[in-house]
Amino acid sequence: MDVVDIINDLKSFRRKDIPYSRVLSSMCTSPHPIAVKAHQLFIETNLGDPGIFVGTWELERKLISMIGKLLHKNDCAGYICSGGTEANIQGIRSARNLKRVKKPNIVIPKSAHFSFEKIGDILGVRIKRVGLDEDYRVNTSEVEKKIDKNTIAIVGIAGTTELGQVDPIDELSEIAIEKDVKLHVDAAFGGLVIPFMDKKFPFDFELEGVSSITIDPHKMGMATIPAGGILFRDESYLRALEVETPYLTSKYQYTLTGTRPGASVASAYAVLKYLGFKGMKRIIERCLKNTILLVEEMQKLGFEPVIEPIMNVVSFKTKKAEKIKEELYKRRWVISTIKEPRAIRMVIMPHVNEEIVLNFIEEFKRVIKSINAI
Ligand SMILES: *Cc1c(COP(=O)(O)O)cnc(C)c1O
Repeated sequence: MDVVDIINDLKSFRRKDIPYSRVLSSMCTSPHPIAVKAHQLFIETNLGDPGIFVGTWELERKLISMIGKLLHKNDCAGYICSGGTEANIQGIRSARNLKRVKKPNIVIPKSAHFSFEKIGDILGVRIKRVGLDEDYRVNTSEVEKKIDKNTIAIVGIAGTTELGQVDPIDELSEIAIEKDVKLHVDAAFGGLVIPFMDKKFPFDFELEGVSSITIDPHKMGMATIPAGGILFRDESYLRALEVETPYLTSKYQYTLTGTRPGASVASAYAVLKYLGFKGMKRIIERCLKNTILLVEEMQKLGFEPVIEPIMNVVSFKTKKAEKIKEELYKRRWVISTIKEPRAIRMVIMPHVNEEIVLNFIEEFKRVIKSINAI
């Protein structure tokens, strides 16, 4: 095949994808234009071999300290990984390696992301799930009760995937200190939302008990995929992850993957540099404003949010959630559903502007009429 044919072939596949302008289910979004530029500049870089990509490595250190600053710890340790899943694996793996017990377990909220299922399987760590209060935050007294001598870590979520709820991380922090276990905070989504909100939710290294944080630039950071982040309170957590690397330019490697992209590191760095704190805040505020618009329009149609939205994730109670999702999908609009309680879920990412919200509502009205879903 020649170049023109290959490109046309590729385009024909790409056309089958649903454009972000019709996607209200995803925590990912179109990368910021500056992210795309940065990505292209670093397209061939491999952070698995830092002795070759010296500058890219330095850039990653810079990005980690920028994110660290946002999370109240200038001198934190960590790296940019493939996403929230890898970040969660590494956070728990480090805790497990630092406290060698025969039958390790972790205590996590019922609202935790499904990546913790994989963690249990891969790391051989037992997962103990804790129920939620009426606002879908983890029940902290139950967390305390479930901790035993084999518990290596407890987990709190800052921005749950289903509802955007924030666990009482300050209380979890105190429990972690008292019981001498690690506290991993999964802020894959919320980590780049909460710092820019007017309402304060303590969730980061400011709290003494927090040992590691998952925070993903490829979600609200508008970086190119794959860009996840795992940050640790100090270097000792990375040391606990290291293996020897006989034939590379570095002696040890603490990352889970070997070869890994510098391009998405450059993209995440460029977005934060370009927007700065103020620019990020403006984008987050716009997302929150459009979330409120969506809620108001949905309420006019008789749908109530499961919780008063905290961030730009919102779910609306309805028994016909699955049917609504299917009907919308047939019309090339994508939302998602949750099971507990039965609800439809939307994420108002930067690509979901006011016009898209209103267009969506028009289609939504037709759908609920067609299936009598009110
Ligand atoms: C998205 C998400 C993850 C998983 O991130 P991936 O990048 O998809 O691996 C983990 N935890 C939370 C809270 C998330 O929202």
